[in-house]
Amino acid sequence: MPLASDLNPNRAERCAGCGEPLGLGPWWCIETQPFHERCAPWESRAFPLSHEIRRLRSLRRKLTRAIAVIDAVGIALRAAERRWPDGALELLAASQKAIEGLDARMRELGWRR
Ligand SMILES: [Zn+2]
Repeated sequence: MPLASDLNPNRAERCAGCGEPLGLGPWWCIETQPFHERCAPWESRAFPLSHEIRRLRSLRRKLTRAIAVIDAVGIALRAAERRWPDGALELLAASQKAIEGLDARMRELGWRR
């Protein structure tokens, strides 16, 4: 929610809360009515950043899944390293497949290599 006084600092109206001139702000426009910041009916407004809380939860879930994939690929590659060079072609193919899976997952999350 943008601070209305930042958008239009010279609005010559009165506060819908206290009736005093808005002045230079800060003031807010709530449902088309201007309020001094201290007079705005904040208690009747839902927290405007709830969507950010949901976004953070979603990001955390994705990162948690990504970390699990990173750990699994790391374990697989360390195991392949210990077996090396027994079954070299099979080890390389399996390792490459694991890396590609990790890269695909990271791309889904917006990461680049
Ligand atoms: Zn006021």
